[in-house]
Amino acid sequence: MAHFGIQCGSGWYAIIEELAREVEEELRVMWEELIELPTSLALVDETLLLGRGVYPIVPVCTDIFQTSGEMSVVVTDGHVCGLDTWSQIRGSIEKAITKSRETCESCGKPGKYRKGYLNRVYCDACVGPIAEFEHDAPLSIPRMRNKLESSSDSK
Ligand SMILES: [Zn+2]
Repeated sequence: MAHFGIQCGSGWYAIIEELAREVEEELRVMWEELIELPTSLALVDETLLLGRGVYPIVPVCTDIFQTSGEMSVVVTDGHVCGLDTWSQIRGSIEKAITKSRETCESCGKPGKYRKGYLNRVYCDACVGPIAEFEHDAPLSIPRMRNKLESSSDSK
């Protein structure tokens, strides 16, 4: 789950970890059910043999990022995944998204959505330093460019 592409603040990692645990548990239950039904496993084998196993057999989370103060989770549907498992996974994802709306993306404490240029969820303690940081970040590039230009001018 989400081996790559986590693009949100570390304050949300606990939510992501919990989501990952729930999804893993749901997938484990799914596999146990599959093992009890030899015909489904044979189907998996056949799919792999025929080279149709291009898509992940189980759902794979490819990206986690934040949009407008809530978590977005991109999941590729696996073809072994049954509708029941899928709806449970969707449920876990929805729960994580709901939590992310009121969890500081920086430190994980209760926070609220900050409108304006931040567009993220932060607690009161984090909003100060981060506002400064976000303000500084875009400035560093022109500053560096100026430095480069002035050094070539001095030739
Ligand atoms: Zn915070």
